[in-house]
Amino acid sequence: MKVLKFGGTSVGTPAALRSVAQIIRAQSADHRLMVVVSALSGVTNALEALAASAVNGEDFSGYVSGIRARHLEMIEALDFDQPTVDQFREHIEEYCHDLNDICTGVKLVGELSPRSRARLMSAGELISSHIVTRMLQSVGVEAVRKDSRDFITTTGDPLNGMVRIEETYDKLRQLATSETAQVIVMPGFIARDEQGKASTLGRGGSDYTAALIAAAVKAEAIEIWTDVSGVMTANPQLVSKAHPVERMTYAEAMELSYFGAKVIYSPTIHPLIVEGIPLRIRNTLDPAAPGTLITANETDDNLPVKGISSIFDIALITVAGAGMIGVPGTAMRMFRAMAARALNILFITQSSSEQTITVGLREADADAARLALQEEFARDLERGQIDEILVEADLTLMAVVGEQMKNRPGIAGKIFGLMGENGINVRAIAQGSTERNVSFVISTRDASKALNTLHEGFFLSESRAVHLFNVGVGNVGSAVLQQIRDQHAHLLEAYGLDLKVAGLANSRKMIFDEEGLDLENWQDRLASGEPYSRDGFVKQIIELNLRTSIFVDNTASADVAVAYAPLLGESIHVVTSNKIGASSDMQHYAALKAAAVEHGVQYLYETNVAAGLPVIRTIRDMLLTGDRIHRIEAVLSGSLNYIFNRIGADCPFSQAVTEARELGLTEPDPAIDLSGLDVQRKILILAREAGYHFELSDVGRGHMIPPTLETGASWPDLLAYLQQHDADIEMQRRAVEEAGRQWRFMATLIDDKLSVGVLSVSPEHPGWVLGGKDNLVLLYSDRYHEQPLVVKGAGAGPHVTASGVLADILRIANV
Ligand code: ADP
Ligand code: ASP
Ligand code: MG
Repeated sequence: MKVLKFGGTSVGTPAALRSVAQIIRAQSADHRLMVVVSALSGVTNALEALAASAVNGEDFSGYVSGIRARHLEMIEALDFDQPTVDQFREHIEEYCHDLNDICTGVKLVGELSPRSRARLMSAGELISSHIVTRMLQSVGVEAVRKDSRDFITTTGDPLNGMVRIEETYDKLRQLATSETAQVIVMPGFIARDEQGKASTLGRGGSDYTAALIAAAVKAEAIEIWTDVSGVMTANPQLVSKAHPVERMTYAEAMELSYFGAKVIYSPTIHPLIVEGIPLRIRNTLDPAAPGTLITANETDDNLPVKGISSIFDIALITVAGAGMIGVPGTAMRMFRAMAARALNILFITQSSSEQTITVGLREADADAARLALQEEFARDLERGQIDEILVEADLTLMAVVGEQMKNRPGIAGKIFGLMGENGINVRAIAQGSTERNVSFVISTRDASKALNTLHEGFFLSESRAVHLFNVGVGNVGSAVLQQIRDQHAHLLEAYGLDLKVAGLANSRKMIFDEEGLDLENWQDRLASGEPYSRDGFVKQIIELNLRTSIFVDNTASADVAVAYAPLLGESIHVVTSNKIGASSDMQHYAALKAAAVEHGVQYLYETNVAAGLPVIRTIRDMLLTGDRIHRIEAVLSGSLNYIFNRIGADCPFSQAVTEARELGLTEPDPAIDLSGLDVQRKILILAREAGYHFELSDVGRGHMIPPTLETGASWPDLLAYLQQHDADIEMQRRAVEEAGRQWRFMATLIDDKLSVGVLSVSPEHPGWVLGGKDNLVLLYSDRYHEQPLVVKGAGAGPHVTASGVLADILRIANV
């Protein structure tokens, strides 16, 4: 004997029902079958809504006609002959009449007993089991229908009955031996109590009906047919990359279902364990898929974690107070008070000092639980032995489940590490002593992020997403987008890294797409985006609350840099080519770095100095390994180096500046380069990285242009000034050349002093040969004291800068 159970979606459409008939027909060729069916999908919910409407004294007739129509449409779509259709019409009419009668009474008295509610709720399975039986007969299967209520007896709550196992099993066994038909079809979910009144096995209870039958008749196997191809690594509605698990143990399935994996109703597993009956979860819409096999045997697939599940709408209740220390029985009183009101506790933790005991339960039970505890502990509260009874809501209970976790150290570390990296605050933790389950409570706001993060962390076969929020689409910003687009497929294939640009903004517009913007035509989409505001952009990043979020700033804007602090505070990484943050006052700079450390994220700005060249990283590595830097000599402006390389008899200063500007080598405002401010910022950043505490005002400099032109002058004004002085500059240049030297715009840290300015160097200086827009950094340290460590190469230009930005992003993504 085999038992097959078909859920609501499996009997919810004509196509699914036809598939059900085929599956049963095929299996009945070599097995006797007992088939359990749910109500058509949506019907049990509609019956619940009908009951609620009647109790509230509303006009409920719409629900009755909805339920009637749902079934009639199904019957008409199923190619039955006319007499059968007519017969069904009559049947359905009778059921609807019954619903109507009960609800009229309910509406009148404004009350609905659990028993009457159970009777109402039974209609769905009663009708669906008729439909399936008739369908089987019409495809030539020898099928009879038996009413589960005659075999399954419950006690206790009529809506969530406790099954009287022995009595039930006896009757089911008798049925299996006395009935000779090859296939017996029975409605799931419904039963009767000791007095013969309607009861049900709880929402989702058809699975349990099937398990009871399987255990009673010692079936060789049970199959639960549903709308997914097995128990999946996580709820597929919440984690798009969830995939079916091939095998798991009863215990794993029980933990997952207890903690919210609805695919199996959790009481289902126990009867199967007792009789050792293998359970397979299969997909009616994809009958060829293997599904998930669940048995007692531990699997040898070496997967420490089998699945992750979650229950939303959880509340935590804490009883706390110094008066609890050493007083026996507090926990007992707490649990007793809640048990007396049938409140189900899902989660328990106690601090080892015994000062607090925290329990997790359904939010709907929280008020009742608080009242129960206030009553139980009234005197203790009065005497101040208990401080207060604290209730927190809007929480989600997460469970990471796997039998093999016990053999692998570090799983809990990994779970909570992943939470920390994503700024998810864990409110309470419990680990079963079997080490099969680590469960913890977080804010519901973080639930989706936590599920997806854990899923990516433990099921590496899939890719993991990194979400980028880019501001600035100028030269560097658009080159970054281009490189992300070009590298996307390679990064995905080689490293399983899925870089998604989830937000994009310029100074006018912004757009968002959690799934990643299409980088082929971002220009058009951005142009029709919503109006940009810094705070609006930041708010959206925080609200989206996506795992591994990185804010990428490719502007030169002080206003954008204001966003770093709040973002880091929300555990959002910052990658920036904008120098404003790292060259702001020392206190702010230190606060940004501290915020990154505190919130477990990174603040990276390698491209602030020498574009993509590894300068900041190198200094960090030197310091981390115990080196100390005493002297820095550097050419840090690619644009100024380009300009000083270009000027000559045939190229006046003004022309060299114009060219650099047109090539995108200068800042948008070239005065920032010519004033030396840009280089001041860079040497300041390097000195700070090397451990020195300087402010921008500590960096000395010579002037190439008068202070009035350094800020706010228009490009034409600046150009006019430069043209006026071309002849003068050329004279000075010739004098330097005749002395066998040439100009370089140098930044130095010498004798604890920072300065920038034009210096002339001799052919022996490492800066003598420094082509085009190259940069040069000479680092003198304890370890590099005779010959400096030299970093040299292209130090400006959108493409090298963009690659530096991308490298910072990839560092965060841990590639
Ligand atoms: P049925 O009506 O067949 O009993 P249910 O709706 O009760 O089906 O259960 C199947 C649903 O359970 C799936 O469609 C899926 O959305 C949900 N689900 C939640 N967690 C999981 C999980 N870990 N694996 C598979 N499905 C899950
Ligand atoms: N029809 C019932 C419900 O929706 C039982 C089930 O489908 O398992 O809860
Ligand atoms: Mg179900």
